[in-house]
Amino acid sequence: MNYKELLKKAYETIPKHSDRHERFQPPKVESFIEGSRTIVKNLNTIANYLNRDIQHIVKYLSKELASPGTVDGNRVIFVGKFRNKLVNEKMQQYIKEYVVCKECGSPDTRFEKEDRVLMIHCMACQAKYPVQKVR
Ligand SMILES: [Zn+2]
Repeated sequence: MNYKELLKKAYETIPKHSDRHERFQPPKVESFIEGSRTIVKNLNTIANYLNRDIQHIVKYLSKELASPGTVDGNRVIFVGKFRNKLVNEKMQQYIKEYVVCKECGSPDTRFEKEDRVLMIHCMACQAKYPVQKVR
């Protein structure tokens, strides 16, 4: 097989209609423990990737970790020591609950408010359903 043929074969193995769903790979949460606090370094990046407000994510993590998080520039600080694995698990939960469409599994969704009810609107299948408010 010559180079051209190899190239052709390589192209053939790439799915032609790869949509966002297949390429959906949110960055892992980067965090470390400093004294009695946990510093998360990249929530901004993750929020951008997920197309969500960082404050909403912080609110969710604060509730889940039972520790209020403070946004400090590019970092978010939680009081208490939380292992990186745990923070990532909570982030996965957030994505499952507030990002990925329950109908079709697409991450291409938006928040919309209807009569003060927070809804997820899926751009892929147009599904719309209410989600729990983070308290
Ligand atoms: Zn959908």
